[in-house]
Amino acid sequence: MNVQWYPGHMTKAKRMMEEDIRLVDLVIEILDARVPLSSRNPDIDRLGRQKARLILLNKADLAEERINSAWEEYFKEKGYYVVKVNAKNGAGVKVVHKVIAEACKEKIERDRKRGILNRPVRAMVVGIPNVGKSTFINTFAGKACTKTGNKPGVTKGKQWIRLNKSVELLDTPGILWPKFDDQEIGIRLAFIGSIKEEVLNITELAIKLIHYLQKNYQGVLKERYQADEEQEVGKVLEDIAKNRACLLKGGEYDIEKAAALLMDDFRNGRLGRITLEVPENIE
Ligand code: GDP
Repeated sequence: MNVQWYPGHMTKAKRMMEEDIRLVDLVIEILDARVPLSSRNPDIDRLGRQKARLILLNKADLAEERINSAWEEYFKEKGYYVVKVNAKNGAGVKVVHKVIAEACKEKIERDRKRGILNRPVRAMVVGIPNVGKSTFINTFAGKACTKTGNKPGVTKGKQWIRLNKSVELLDTPGILWPKFDDQEIGIRLAFIGSIKEEVLNITELAIKLIHYLQKNYQGVLKERYQADEEQEVGKVLEDIAKNRACLLKGGEYDIEKAAALLMDDFRNGRLGRITLEVPENIE
């Protein structure tokens, strides 16, 4: 399978993101906990240098907790602040407030020495498509916040959300582009829905996922679809079609529909917690 990504339309988003990043003290980088390496755009390290850095392992509810913790350690050792979150239900979000205060202590101290008092810390959220940036901003900012910026007399101001008296968050996230030279990374990004489906063959994708599950998560396909996992992948997909009554007009199995159903179940956590990447230092 040849997974391709066409960055043409990303150029504008990239330029905007680079402009915005100059305005902030803290970069909040959102990763998908199921694929923390593949869902990173390594360029962010260059773009975000000299900024405080916080990594959120989002969708922690969809990945194995033991491995989430291993990834947390992995990134902490590299010098990032790290928090595991579920942007959808808000788990971990309180901790983010605490860590932001900590991450920005240095900046506040620097300001204080220069005689600048009470200048709020400014932060922005960045990440590749579909990792949960908008969901996080909504959950994090909640309803209680007030929007600032775009005041009369201020032309073309940015919209900042005032979170509390010391932190402001840019209300739109910076979109990073998925990056991969390695096709395996491309496939993982397709698994989590960060690459548009039109550029992929859903059946091939489902077959790759079945392979992975057969090897690493035995019992999952049997439990959900009563599939015989010992068979070759094509047959497993047929079992899924059979179990979910995915049939074509002539009565044959609708394999493509079964494939789409499997991917949808995976993406929404209906197969249970499944991690696709494990750091090297874990058994
Ligand atoms: P964005 O493209 O990065 O802004 O991603 P969105 O905020 O639009 O989220 C993409 C999808 O992931 C949506 O269907 C969200 O409901 C879902 N989502 C976001 N965060 C979480 C999470 O922590 N857990 C789960 N289970 N789903 C999430």
